[in-house]
Amino acid sequence: MIKQIKNKKKIEKNLKEFNSLCEECKKKNESVNQNLILIGFKICNSCKTSKTIFPV
Ligand SMILES: [Zn+2]
Repeated sequence: MIKQIKNKKKIEKNLKEFNSLCEECKKKNESVNQNLILIGFKICNSCKTSKTIFPV
């Protein structure tokens, strides 16, 4: 359990340092990392909203 939490934190940190650039609007945003983990897309919250309304 503890090992899993530690790994997740490490992955999140790596992702954050690796890239936080939105693939849709090419803007740097902290929400890009969260969305990559949550939905698997490198997009910011505003692009996520438009993708949810108009799924590709
Ligand atoms: Zn975006």
